[in-house]
Amino acid sequence: MKPPAATFVTGLRCILCNQTYGDGNLHTCPKCGIQGILDVQYDYDAAAAALTSGTLAGRSYNHWRYRELLPLSDEASLPPLHVGWTPVYDVPRLAAAVGIHRLFLKDDGRNPTNSFKDRASSVGVLKAQEFGFKAIACASTGNAASSLAGFAAAVGLRSVIFVPERTPEPKVAQLLIFGATVVRVKGSYESAFDLCREACKKFGWYNRNSGTNPFLVEGKKTAGLEIAEQFGPAVPDWVVVSVGDGCTIGGIGKGLQEMRKLGFIDRIPRLLGVQAEGACPILGSFLSGKDLIPSSASTIADSIAVGTPRNWRRAIHQIKASRGEMIAVADEEIMEAMGMTARLGGVFGEPAGVAGVAGLKRAIARGVVKRDESAVVVITGNGLKDIQSAKRAVGQALEIEPDFHVLEKHLLEHSII
Ligand SMILES: *Cc1c(COP(=O)(O)O)cnc(C)c1O
Repeated sequence: MKPPAATFVTGLRCILCNQTYGDGNLHTCPKCGIQGILDVQYDYDAAAAALTSGTLAGRSYNHWRYRELLPLSDEASLPPLHVGWTPVYDVPRLAAAVGIHRLFLKDDGRNPTNSFKDRASSVGVLKAQEFGFKAIACASTGNAASSLAGFAAAVGLRSVIFVPERTPEPKVAQLLIFGATVVRVKGSYESAFDLCREACKKFGWYNRNSGTNPFLVEGKKTAGLEIAEQFGPAVPDWVVVSVGDGCTIGGIGKGLQEMRKLGFIDRIPRLLGVQAEGACPILGSFLSGKDLIPSSASTIADSIAVGTPRNWRRAIHQIKASRGEMIAVADEEIMEAMGMTARLGGVFGEPAGVAGVAGLKRAIARGVVKRDESAVVVITGNGLKDIQSAKRAVGQALEIEPDFHVLEKHLLEHSII
């Protein structure tokens, strides 16, 4: 039997034509097609009455504490994995290095499969179960895939992951260990994507595609809800987020807006969206004010290497609504940020995870962000996901014979003692 509809969801609204639909298993607007991204609507008066600092005080510190603002029924049995309420660190030495008065890192690499994507996958598996699916699928080489495999395992759902032939072995291993059926498609990412969509239709699997699935973005929103609750009235001037498809920054922006509606913060921090120079079609559209033109996608930050983003409208809408800005950074700046964030902030992020730090540094140099302002950068993925890039960003270990005098000589040579 289908569980009852989520308590506070009133429907789904197309961001293009504004048509609203009832709450149900829809992906995009039936009238507008793939461009018609749907946005989940809530009864905010009812949510505000139920979700107060008083009620929050009695709840567990994970992202389900905002259940009134999530598309879930009360009966949904939540995955056991801890997701969300990731720590915020004050990092004065990194702040000095990027040239800003006050800087915080919110470490989303601390999620169960080590990336921000867990916020979305955790909601995705619940929606799949609510709609009666026995299996969930996606086409991805990266964090969305490992996250889906992990959460499917946690709730006992079958997962089928389509990966392109060239996917690195460590990533395939992470999928297999969670028990996912991994289909290695002899072809490109696009061909894996198409095959996945066809298989979902034919075999009745739920498609986890956060570009078009309206519910997954609601999971991503929780980082915005958390930033508002964790900082309260002291929310920083800027929230810095790396941007690929645009769902993450769009979700965080929505979360911040909702927390202002509910009275947890009284102003919206400005969003700074950071893309890689080799893959920045959303920045192009942000600057031109015109529809997005797909671009090539070539950057060391593979998790934001998106040439044809699906959620660009929502991303730009939220950035503009916050009086925010966008900026692009070169791969060298991302590599530098990897080292800096680890050495001066104690957080090891993957290239897309630290792109925000690089973007903030450039935005300060350009005067877009002022030196006397404050910022929080969301570190979206853990550095152990991609040690090849990390190794390129740093030096070598000292290789020595097991002899104290040799050790002393090397340490002197490298000015360590
Ligand atoms: C997916 C991802 C992003 C960007 O999210 P989008 O919704 O694609 O904009 C940033 N960093 C990491 C580590 C990611 O996995």
